[in-house]
Amino acid sequence: IDFGFKDVNYEEKEKMVRQVFSNVADSYDVMNDAMSLGVHRCWKDQFVNQLGPLRTRRVVVETSNQEREEKLKVIDVAGGTGDISFRILNKAKKDSPTQLSVDITVSDINPNMLEVGKKRAVEQGLFHDLSFMELNAENLSNLKSDDFDIYTIAFGIRNVTDRQKALKEAYRVLRKGGRFMCLEFSEVEVPGLKQFYDFYSFNIIPQLGQFIANDIDSYQYLVESIRKFPKQAEFAKLIEDAGFKAVTYTNLTGGIVAIHSGFKV
Ligand code: SAM
Repeated sequence: IDFGFKDVNYEEKEKMVRQVFSNVADSYDVMNDAMSLGVHRCWKDQFVNQLGPLRTRRVVVETSNQEREEKLKVIDVAGGTGDISFRILNKAKKDSPTQLSVDITVSDINPNMLEVGKKRAVEQGLFHDLSFMELNAENLSNLKSDDFDIYTIAFGIRNVTDRQKALKEAYRVLRKGGRFMCLEFSEVEVPGLKQFYDFYSFNIIPQLGQFIANDIDSYQYLVESIRKFPKQAEFAKLIEDAGFKAVTYTNLTGGIVAIHSGFKV
């Protein structure tokens, strides 16, 4: 099924994606719960758990030859209303209760999504431990090269117009040993589930969008963009093409979503 969002050029796609997320910003979190029946929370928890323990790292200061603790620098790209960053921060606080072990920047191209994120951060008492930046994943020129330990992008890369450019930027800003992590919708690999999922996404999700957010078009775009996104192995290849090594992926819920991981070595 095609809702007719294809054949848009570069500028049109970027403009359309901006419009979609400006439209949905206020209802985004409610819609996520409604569309996924709350399952997106488990996917995001699993994604963040895959990062392993979040503790400061020891670095040797060249001039004095002494060791010093440094926070892990994390950039959450297309971070939207902050779901992934909040989870990383809360996990870091559990993993390292005595000192904050992470320095997290939530970034997104859309100021409306970031605004909702900031409000939520204030409500959850997390605002002072996070930075927010308006950034396009394709152009992180405000960020230094070889600087970040972790780059995350969750349900974001699908919306980026030039994905290869975004992946190369991810590679650039990570330091050696740094990790790229992506959570994204993917190809359902379980036959029975596939039929149910197709029915659900093409029939139920746009109707939910209409009912809850009074916006059928934005949610039709979301469903269609999922179908157009490369399958697990194809996307892994794109990550390798950007320079990453040890690229792996893990399917969640039969492949409805997949976690891709890669390292800069
Ligand atoms: N990561 C959040 C989450 O998991 O809830 C938000 C995901 S939301 C589906 C997709 C986000 O990607 C939106 O906030 C949108 O503004 C952002 N986005 C789209 N194109 C982008 C781009 N080129 N650069 C940065 N962010 C982008």
